[in-house]
Amino acid sequence: MNKGRLIVFSAPSGCGKGTMLEQILKNEDFCVSVSATTRLPREGEVDGVNYYFISKDEFTERIGEGKFLEYAEYCGNFYGTPMDKVNEMLEKGKNVILEIEVQGAVKVMNKRPDALSIFIAPPSINELRRRLHKRGTESDEVIEQRVAQASNEVALAAKYDYIIVNDALEDAVEDFFHVVRAEQLRADKRPEIIADIIKNS
Ligand code: 5GP
Repeated sequence: MNKGRLIVFSAPSGCGKGTMLEQILKNEDFCVSVSATTRLPREGEVDGVNYYFISKDEFTERIGEGKFLEYAEYCGNFYGTPMDKVNEMLEKGKNVILEIEVQGAVKVMNKRPDALSIFIAPPSINELRRRLHKRGTESDEVIEQRVAQASNEVALAAKYDYIIVNDALEDAVEDFFHVVRAEQLRADKRPEIIADIIKNS
């Protein structure tokens, strides 16, 4: 069986990352890695589904044991990608999506140069602000913090292999699948194909 592809998937808050992932995960070739975090669960979040919710001490212990592919501190909490689970899913042939922020993404790009990295961007910062206001789940102050954070994150988007602008959800999801497909067809990713073709001459 072919090994799956590791996919780094980052987006500032309010870019529709969650809705995009919902659509993508309808395809059984894809799965998302469940991270460990020291932040408290939000209402409705389930341990082992949304995150593995662990204490700061346990997180530090796991860092020491080298159990994370990457980890980062974000807004006062730690987040990390468990290495064993990711490798297990890749071995099973799944494309494993890491939904992680920019610092962690850069670490994965350095550690696993074979990873495909995709940044999901809003059409503009103004549009992002408008969407966050429309969603109405945060105060004006928090929205401005998130908008500032988003501007910083977008400034780093050039580090990724691909940037997909999420203007219309269906188009963005289609772009995602096109990128993955194009990557699967890359000549350097399929050295066996030429021998196979010539063999049948
Ligand atoms: P939230 O607290 O809103 O669930 O997540 C905050 C940020 O942490 C999001 O940008 C999310 O993508 C990122 N994140 C979630 N899990 C991980 C992880 O394992 N590693 C890193 N580096 N970032 C993560």
